[in-house]
Amino acid sequence: MVLADLGSKVADALRKMTRATVVDQTVMNEMLAEICKALLQADVNVAQVKALRESIKKNVDVEALASGLNKRKMLEQAVCNELCAMLDPGKEPYVPKKKQPNVIMFVGLQGCGKTTTCTKYAHLYKRKGFKCALVCADTFRAGAFDQLKQNATKAKIPFYGSYTETDPAQIAAEGVAKFKEEGYEVIIVDTSGRHMQEEALFEEMEQVAQLTSPDDIVFASAFKKKVAVGSCIITKLDGHAKGGGALSAVAATGAPITHIGTGEHIEDFEDFEVKSFVSRMLGKGNIKGLMEKMKQADVDLEKQAPEMMKRLQSGQWTLRDMREQFQAVLKMGPLGNIMSQFPGMAGLDFHDSGVRIKKWMTMMDSMTEAELDETKAMAPSRIIRIARGSGHYPHEVAELLEQFKLMQTTMQKTMKKSKKMGKAGGGM
Ligand code: GDP
Repeated sequence: MVLADLGSKVADALRKMTRATVVDQTVMNEMLAEICKALLQADVNVAQVKALRESIKKNVDVEALASGLNKRKMLEQAVCNELCAMLDPGKEPYVPKKKQPNVIMFVGLQGCGKTTTCTKYAHLYKRKGFKCALVCADTFRAGAFDQLKQNATKAKIPFYGSYTETDPAQIAAEGVAKFKEEGYEVIIVDTSGRHMQEEALFEEMEQVAQLTSPDDIVFASAFKKKVAVGSCIITKLDGHAKGGGALSAVAATGAPITHIGTGEHIEDFEDFEVKSFVSRMLGKGNIKGLMEKMKQADVDLEKQAPEMMKRLQSGQWTLRDMREQFQAVLKMGPLGNIMSQFPGMAGLDFHDSGVRIKKWMTMMDSMTEAELDETKAMAPSRIIRIARGSGHYPHEVAELLEQFKLMQTTMQKTMKKSKKMGKAGGGM
């Protein structure tokens, strides 16, 4: 089950409860059962799922609460809070500091994307202005050094490794010492990731850790017992990874998640923030993340689309605005990852959403100027015309309109909220 799937199942369970005439113990239990089933299917461990259910039951007494909206809201909030709590160990992650060496050791099982992630991490900090270097301490896997070398060269990041030395701890120590001497600030040590049962591997980890005294050790659940993992990076959240990995990693390591990997490309790497992640997972979008991505890509909506920003702030948001926003996003390169941050898009597969958005653009191209500005519901005859004009089925146009409604409502809510906080437009 992909993460998007987990999100939409949880969101479905919440929606079902919203539709129930009266929210009582039975409705709540049904909702919880559905959510727990989805979590278990996504490989979240049983103890965590059980704890989530017990905690919600304990914290929300549906029978004692007054009827109506409140109960639903409270339950919805309780589910969100529990998911957030699952992802938040209550510890601050290590953040590399400037003008000092920060040794970051990466651990993880073979194939989990460790080497790729090392390069993404180096690339990210390089962009933040740090002097970064990579050390390959994987002497076990044939070709590991070549892979790191290739990645590092592509990203223009200095690297250290050896074809002949067989002691990983030795190479790690040498590499770290060399880069420290040369004044590097973020020194990343990529370690071997053989099968998790191998005792020898754990010993190797310990030795590397002892010899390099890393400031942070990043990820993987099975390694907790031998080296104290300080942060987690969840890889492969784009395609077929089970979302539960993210939810369970924190419990397994006791360490906060700092980033997520969302693709094979070096830029497919995002900062992790619990609330945004849960909100995105549940299909509520992540406006903050979206704005950050736009900023990174130098898309300044206030400058490029001042009219749209004005309308957004005044609570009016039309199909034309959605089209403009999609256009801005289209300029930003790999689409899939960005699209999932739009409200209502998280229920889709990352790549799927990229394909869908292009389809929607052709439908909007078939609309008249008046239709793009219309705020009322669209007549069926028009939907059929737009479908024909763009070479799609009417139900596909209806889907676009539904998506638009969802985004409109969320955008307006978000704008209202940020206005209340006195930040309207400021951060955008
Ligand atoms: P390692 O054995 O843990 O060092 O794993 P690698 O870094 O060699 O990655 C294994 C495979 O996973 C490679 O084909 C990577 O391109 C791919 N990979 C790594 N991170 C991601 C990710 O976030 N998303 C996807 N789709 N693939 C990834």
